[in-house]
Amino acid sequence: MVCGASQGLGFACARALAAEGVRVWLVARRQEPLQAAATLLKSEGALVHVISADVTREEGREKIRQSCPETDILVTNAGGPAPGDFRDWDRDDWISAIDANMLTPIALIQAYVDGMMARGFGRIVNITSSSVKSPLESLGLSTGARSGLTGFVGGLARSVVSRGVTINNVLPGTFATARLEGNFSAQARREGRSVEEVIESRLSKHPAKRFGHPDELGKTCAFLCSVHAGYINGQNILLDGGSFPGVL
Ligand code: NAP
Repeated sequence: MVCGASQGLGFACARALAAEGVRVWLVARRQEPLQAAATLLKSEGALVHVISADVTREEGREKIRQSCPETDILVTNAGGPAPGDFRDWDRDDWISAIDANMLTPIALIQAYVDGMMARGFGRIVNITSSSVKSPLESLGLSTGARSGLTGFVGGLARSVVSRGVTINNVLPGTFATARLEGNFSAQARREGRSVEEVIESRLSKHPAKRFGHPDELGKTCAFLCSVHAGYINGQNILLDGGSFPGVL
């Protein structure tokens, strides 16, 4: 079960899992990109099902549970809150961010983890953000909500691993996806610069001098979901090309 899977990082996770022979369920809200993603994976030989649902809403999660009552692998993912100035965020903004990026993954884990434990195998991977480790002021809504998830998962992961279930988070830095393009366009408009200038200035400060490719994250996710990664649990795996300056 891969959420937010019609494009970007979620799609890359689904594709990498499908390439290993996993039967995948793709979840996203919009039908058209979802069907296009499923068609592409099917053309690569994958076994694919789709669920059009908003994971951040209880009705959406109920639809997911009804369509697929059990899964051995769960990848949680959804859109992230927009950047901004914390002075402009009211209670509703915070509740929406916490709902989407903390309570939604927790509700999905709640729906599936007991079944995984009963069967003696399960893998849960949450797509969070490098901002959990390296906070940026403008991403406060995202960082705040995802940090709550990170803390919660840290405790839960230790209580499920003896039953064959692991829970880890992958923390993307800057990956070339539609979302990143949208962020750069917004930044260019704000700063009165061209998108190319914004990208160039970002890359000039990046140790890798390039953005991550979604498949790099997808393959990491697939490894974490494999039997080989059974002893990796409760970890925050940073994929940022070395942007974070620390060694731990
Ligand atoms: P993306 O290219 O915009 O893709 C988002 C995917 O999630 C789409 O398939 C979208 O389809 C689906 N989605 C969004 N909201 C949903 C919802 N409420 N219910 C179900 N599906 C939903 O984004 P991305 O770049 O892959 O990013 C994925 C996550 O990683 C985001 O939370 C983002 O903040 C985080 N992240 C990304 C980067 C990066 O560099 N790309 C860095 C740090 C963190 P629909 O719109 O049709 O639902």
